[in-house]
Amino acid sequence: MEVTFWGVRGSYPTPAPETVRYGGNTSCVEVRAHGGDRLVVDAGTGLTRLGDFLSSSGQLAGTHHILLSHLHWDHIQGLPFFAPAYDARARISIHAMPDTAKPLAKVLAGVARHEFFPAALDDFAAPFDFHEVMASQVFAPQSFRVTPFRLNHPSGAMGYRIDADGTSCAYVCDTAPFTEVLHKRHFLRGLEPLDDRDRLELQALRDGVVQVITDCDTVIYDTHFLPEEYAKFPHFGHSTPDQALALCTGIGIRQLVLYHHAPNHDDAILDQMASVYAALGQQVGLKVVTAREGMVLQVGADDAGTRRVSP
Ligand SMILES: [Zn+2]
Ligand SMILES: [Zn+2]
Repeated sequence: MEVTFWGVRGSYPTPAPETVRYGGNTSCVEVRAHGGDRLVVDAGTGLTRLGDFLSSSGQLAGTHHILLSHLHWDHIQGLPFFAPAYDARARISIHAMPDTAKPLAKVLAGVARHEFFPAALDDFAAPFDFHEVMASQVFAPQSFRVTPFRLNHPSGAMGYRIDADGTSCAYVCDTAPFTEVLHKRHFLRGLEPLDDRDRLELQALRDGVVQVITDCDTVIYDTHFLPEEYAKFPHFGHSTPDQALALCTGIGIRQLVLYHHAPNHDDAILDQMASVYAALGQQVGLKVVTAREGMVLQVGADDAGTRRVSP
């Protein structure tokens, strides 16, 4: 299995000279099995680059499965610009957690409402279909086995463990740690003190994540904040590299990928973060890699580093 990072940024795109090496597109990862099957995780602006690659390599036709962690802008904004959506030989299958108020199809149709976009989702050449995913309910698009699990994020988010080719990776984004703040659906608790029931729920959430990602070869984790930034914004629903490292240590994970970089983290900051956490990871037997746009990682085999691609 191979993972390609098409967008590694959180919140909003940051194209600029000072972000050119790590990239400015928002969250989008492609997971490819050796047999050629493909899963896309999240549809931030990085999805547009994947679409261009599929177009130029003659791979627009067929069903494109997209898993969404949740529906915040930085995870869906590429959807109406995805090249296969403009090809009648293609089909777009979206898998995401249900919204409490409206059916998923209706919520996502909002992305292309006439006020925001010149064509409705129904008008695209490729049909869209929508599948609601529930925590622990395993499903199997193509040759993959996908296990969803709940994360701690405002309005909720779903993590995914993906198994194929006898190996596995996990996508843990977006999530706050499982300590100071409990994010409930449609309810941002902010910094109110936790009661005993909240603490139990946080522990159960954490246990659920650990249970599913244990023994995964590679874990891609929301490390939006540096520790000093997290201290100011613990209620924003994101984690730090230290928190990711703590959760992923000692549970059979080989490789941790720092991902969903804050928009204010330029190349210099990310270079420093990459070297600090690679060294800390080494101390606990974990290979720590900082995600860059265009990076391809082998899952299930240590390829002694990463290589850049120019798709
Ligand atoms: Zn996000
Ligand atoms: Zn989010």
